[in-house]
Amino acid sequence: RRASAPNYLEGLNPEQRLAVETTEGPVLVLAGAGTGKTRVLTTRIAHILATGLAYPSQILAVTFTNKAAREMKQRIALLIGEGNVEGMPWLGTFHSIGVKLLRRHAELAGLRTDFTILDTDDQIRLIKQLIQAEGLDDKRWPARQFAQMIDGWKNKGLAPSEIAEGDARAFANGKGRELYRAYQERLATLNACDFGDLLLHPIRIFRSKPDVLEEYHRKFKYILVDEYQDTNTAQYMWLRLLAQRPRGQGVNICCVGDDDQSIYGWRGAEVDNILRFDKDFPGATVIRLERNYRSTAHILGAASHLIAHNEGRLGKTLFTDHPAPDDPKVNVHAAWDSEEEARAVGEAIEQYQRKGEKLNDMAILVRASFQMREFEDRFVTLGLNYRVIGGPRFYERQEIRDAMAYFRVVAQPADDLAFERIVNVPKRKIGEATISQIHATARALRVPMLEAAAKLAESDELKPVPRAALREVAANFERWQKALETTPHTELAETILEESGYTDMWKNDRSADAPGRLENLKELIRSMEDYESLRSFLEHVALVMDAEKNEELDAVSIMTLHSAKGLEFETVYLPGWEEGLFPHQRALDEGGRSGLEEERRLAYVGLTRAKKNLHLWFVSNRRIHGLWQSTIPSRFLEELPEQHVEIADAGNSYGGYGQSGFATGRGGYGRQNPYGASRFDSVGEKSFSNNYATPGWARAKANRTEATDRNWGSRSGHNFERI
Ligand code: ATP
Ligand code: MG
Repeated sequence: RRASAPNYLEGLNPEQRLAVETTEGPVLVLAGAGTGKTRVLTTRIAHILATGLAYPSQILAVTFTNKAAREMKQRIALLIGEGNVEGMPWLGTFHSIGVKLLRRHAELAGLRTDFTILDTDDQIRLIKQLIQAEGLDDKRWPARQFAQMIDGWKNKGLAPSEIAEGDARAFANGKGRELYRAYQERLATLNACDFGDLLLHPIRIFRSKPDVLEEYHRKFKYILVDEYQDTNTAQYMWLRLLAQRPRGQGVNICCVGDDDQSIYGWRGAEVDNILRFDKDFPGATVIRLERNYRSTAHILGAASHLIAHNEGRLGKTLFTDHPAPDDPKVNVHAAWDSEEEARAVGEAIEQYQRKGEKLNDMAILVRASFQMREFEDRFVTLGLNYRVIGGPRFYERQEIRDAMAYFRVVAQPADDLAFERIVNVPKRKIGEATISQIHATARALRVPMLEAAAKLAESDELKPVPRAALREVAANFERWQKALETTPHTELAETILEESGYTDMWKNDRSADAPGRLENLKELIRSMEDYESLRSFLEHVALVMDAEKNEELDAVSIMTLHSAKGLEFETVYLPGWEEGLFPHQRALDEGGRSGLEEERRLAYVGLTRAKKNLHLWFVSNRRIHGLWQSTIPSRFLEELPEQHVEIADAGNSYGGYGQSGFATGRGGYGRQNPYGASRFDSVGEKSFSNNYATPGWARAKANRTEATDRNWGSRSGHNFERI
C-alpha cells in the first residue's frame, strides 16, 4: 500500500475509493443520483492508467451520450496530466464503439469497411420500397411503423429467423419476417447498416468467430459502463460476450447505475440487467454509495420521498452533508397557462442573472418537446441566450419547417425554397422531372416557381398525373392567398395544413413519433395567436432562427427530461407538472404500475439534476388538441414532502410572480381533482386573480371546452444522440 494517496484519489469517500481501487474482478456500483458514480468511473480509468495496470487501448468504457464521453476524456486528462497518457481508451456510446468494431471486421458481416450508416429517413425510404415491392399497400402498412418494429427486434438482439411467430404476423398479413429478411439483404447489397446493426453485427461476429472474440478478450483488460440501468437486451448481450471470459480468466468489469433512474424502458431498456449483475458475474463486489454531493438536503429530501412511492425498486439511502439552514426549499409555482409559465420562468432567470449567476448553470427540463416552444419564444423576446440539448430547436423540427414553408409561400409567393420544400409533401406524384421542368420554366419566364407551376399546369408539357397534381397545388395556393385578406391568420394556417393534406400525412402515419409531430403542429398554430398577422409571425420566427448558436456563449439549457440524465445544474426549472402531461397520458392509459413508475423515475431524474435551486411549475389551463382544458396538478406534486417544499406566492420573488397584490378569484382548476382536495388548490385560488385577466385569459375562458380525446401524448421529440 502506498503511504499517501495520489492526488486524484483525494477527496473520495471510502466507498468511492473502494470502487476505484477494486480494479480486479467484477464490480457493481449501485447508488442513487449524485453520489459520484460517474466520478468513480472517471477516477477509476485515471487510476488504472496512472498505476500502469493497462494501456489506454486496453480499456473499454461505455457512456450514455457522446457529450458524456467527451467530458470523461477531458476529466481523465486533467486527473493524470495530459502528457501521461499515450492514446485514449475506447471510450464512447454503445453505438460509437459498435462502429469502431464493425469497421475492423466489416467483411465478417458481409460489408466493406467503407459501409454507410443509414439515418432514419433512408431507412424508411428503403422499407417503403420493399413494402411496395411485395405488392402491399404502404398506407395500410406504413414504413415508419415497420422501421420501429425492426428497431424493437434489434434492441432485443433478434435476427429475422429468431422472431416469434406472433410478432412476425403482426405486420403485413404475416409477411413481417420476410420483410425483415429482405431488408437485411438489401442493406448488405447497399453496403450499409442501420443503427441496430452496429450492435447486432458485432454480436453475431463474436458468436460465430471465437478467435475474434478471443482477440478482444485479450485486448480489453478493463471494461467500464455508466448508466447500466438503461442498457437494452442487445447491449447487454454485447457486453456479456466481451466480459464473460472462459473459466479461470478473471474479468474486470465495473458497471455503475441506479435502478431508480431507469427511464428508457419504452425503448427496450431492461432494468433487470442491473438486478442480475451478481448472477452474471459471480463473486461481484457490490458497492453502495450513499452520500450525495450534488444537491441540498431539501432537493434530496423531495426526490427521495417522491421515488419512495414506487414499489418495484431496490431501495436506497441517500444523505447529504450540505449545510441546510439557508438553502432554499423546493419551490412549487402555479401559472394560469403556459404563456404565463414561460414569462415567469424568464423573469426568475433574469433575477438570478442579476444576482450574478451564470445562464450556463440553469436548465429547463420538459416532459414533452412541444413545451419548449413557449420558452424559446420568450427567451428570444427577452434576449436571453439559450440552447436546446439533444434535439432540434422547436422551429427547426421537420414538421414545423414544412408547415412554415406552406405559410411562407402563401405570404411570400416568390419564396422558391419554401415552395420546393413542400411541393411534393405530402407525396403528390410530383417527381424530380416535374420539378426540373418547373425550374426551367421559372428561369425562362423569370417568375417564381409557384407561378411557373401554375403556367405549366395549364400547358400540355406535363404528363396527366403531375399536371393534375400541380393544378391542384396552384389552385390551393391561389385560394389561400386570397383568404389571407379575409380570414384570421391562425384559422387560415389550420386550413392550409388540412387542405394541403399535411396534417393527414401525420395522422395516417402510425409511427411512434407522429403524435408528437401533430402536437408540435398544434403548438405552432397556438403560437401564431400572439401575432397580429401571418407576416409578423413569419418575421418573428426568422428572428428566432437567427438567434445566436454559439456553443461558447453563456446560455440557459432547454432539453427533455430524458436527455438530462447524468447532468447537473445549479438551478433547474421543471415546468408542466400536470396530470396528462407529467405523468404523461400515454403512461396513464397503459394502466398498470409500470408506465406510471417509469414516469415517476423520470420525475426523480428531473429533481435530482438540481444542485441548489429547484422550481416546479404547473399551469391551470393548457391548450391540447386546439382546445383549452383545465388541468389538474400532477400527482407527483402531492407526493413531495411538505417540509421540503414551499408553495411560492407573493412573498417569493424568485417565482417571478406576485409583486402585485393578489385578489382572490376563482381559478377554475383543481375542482375535479380525483385525488381529493389538494394542498395546491389554494395556490391556484390565490394566483389566478383578475390581475392575470390578460386577453389570453379571456380567450381561454371563452373557448374552454373539455376535449374528449386526451391521448395527445407521445414520446417523440427525444432525439437520441446515437453515435
Ligand atoms: P447521476 O446518477 O445523476 O448520474 P452520479 O452518481 O453519476 O449522478 P456524479 O455526477 O459522478 O454523480 O457526481 C455528482 C456531483 O458530485 C459531481 O459534481 C461530482 O463532481 C461531485 N462529487 C462526487 N463525489 C465527490 C466527492 N468525493 N467529493 C466532492 N464532490 C464529489
Ligand atoms: Mg452519472
